[in-house]
Amino acid sequence: MHEPFAQVDGGLVRIRVPGGTLAGRHLRAVSEAASAYGTAVEITSRANLQIRGVPNAAHRLLVRDLVAADVTLADAGADARRNVLASPTAGLDPSEISDTRSLVADVIETLVGAEGVPLSPKFGVLIDGGGAVHVRGRRQDICLGAVRVRSGPSAYDVRLAQPLLERSDNRPICVVRPDNVADLLGGILDLMAEHAEVGGRLSGLVALLGVDEALDQAAARRDVHLFRLAPADVAFSAEPSLRPIGVLPQQQAGLAMVGAMPVLGRLSAVQLEDIANMANDTCGRGDEAEVRLTPWRSVVIPNVPIDRAASVLRALEQMGLAIDQSDPALRVVACAGSTGCPSSFTDTQHDGSALIAALRAASPTRPLTIHLSGCSKRCADSTTEFDVTLVGGPTPGVYEVVTRPGAVSHPAGGPLDAEGAMAHVLTIAGSDEP
Ligand code: SF4
Repeated sequence: MHEPFAQVDGGLVRIRVPGGTLAGRHLRAVSEAASAYGTAVEITSRANLQIRGVPNAAHRLLVRDLVAADVTLADAGADARRNVLASPTAGLDPSEISDTRSLVADVIETLVGAEGVPLSPKFGVLIDGGGAVHVRGRRQDICLGAVRVRSGPSAYDVRLAQPLLERSDNRPICVVRPDNVADLLGGILDLMAEHAEVGGRLSGLVALLGVDEALDQAAARRDVHLFRLAPADVAFSAEPSLRPIGVLPQQQAGLAMVGAMPVLGRLSAVQLEDIANMANDTCGRGDEAEVRLTPWRSVVIPNVPIDRAASVLRALEQMGLAIDQSDPALRVVACAGSTGCPSSFTDTQHDGSALIAALRAASPTRPLTIHLSGCSKRCADSTTEFDVTLVGGPTPGVYEVVTRPGAVSHPAGGPLDAEGAMAHVLTIAGSDEP
């Protein structure tokens, strides 16, 4: 945030949105900053925001405005440490095991206070509430997932440098009481401070001590009791997450949440302002308006009175956002491409938008997940296994079409120019083959 990344289209400024929740007034501040100093806003796969196209001369002013609006912390290090990915529908999802919001706030406070701990800028915490909309399976340094415990209250499954769904054997599952989670995090940060040699990532600490020893030492430092339970004593859903798109029921009677996805996760300042205004106008029961960001690069407006939900959804559609689970736009991801990234061999943003338009027109029989990457780094989303990936290069303007083994039986069709690659994807998407 405090240091922009140089890109082809100007500075790229990342804005931490810990837990993915923004008050309506904060979203409006981001919109005003993007309008004054940038060209577009993107939602990232960690449910943060980034403003593109910020000239060098404007960066200081943008930071000043976002700090003044309380979106960003003045202390750059503390701001960067607030790296928390959480269930985007916490406190709303009728099926969640735990409402993670107060835990998210505690974890943010602990991370902000960890001044002097040698953490990598990528060090992050994941907190999942165990609902139908979830973030289990995604990677962060520390992953905490709400679980039901047989004959006991709910607890948090703790994973170090490992996603919550990964389970390679029948080893016991380490859980901690909800009110001990922040203390355990404090103990882990103590260990990170003692072992600067691990490079600020939990994977380094685990490589040094092993998972069990690292957890035991962290718990001992803060007097936290860890429970090691047999897998059969711990219950949670391993179903894929529901994408929060459309009108979804809320725990709170009479209210609904409304979700939609901007094409390729990119929004103009005007769209952002319209979303903030809509959240303000529709927020029920006197709550402060807020907007949730999701790791699928979509937005959720919570607390909408049910009788207004359909009109909010229509308004989002008129703004150009995808509002239907069947919309191919939900399954296409593209990196910055040649208009943004100097390493790109292809214009993935243009080609991605064109591919979405073609898929919408063709009504394909197979809902493929598709990733357009301007080079072999594939950095737009490293956590998802896509059915089809179009990898740009090494010749400018061409893609290699890479298909996921077992998902798509068509032979890879590359290298192909953008038009050829798109035609190949349409063939695959319309095919009946397994
Ligand atoms: S995948 Fe390659 S081209 Fe795309 S943003 Fe990353 S480095 Fe740039």
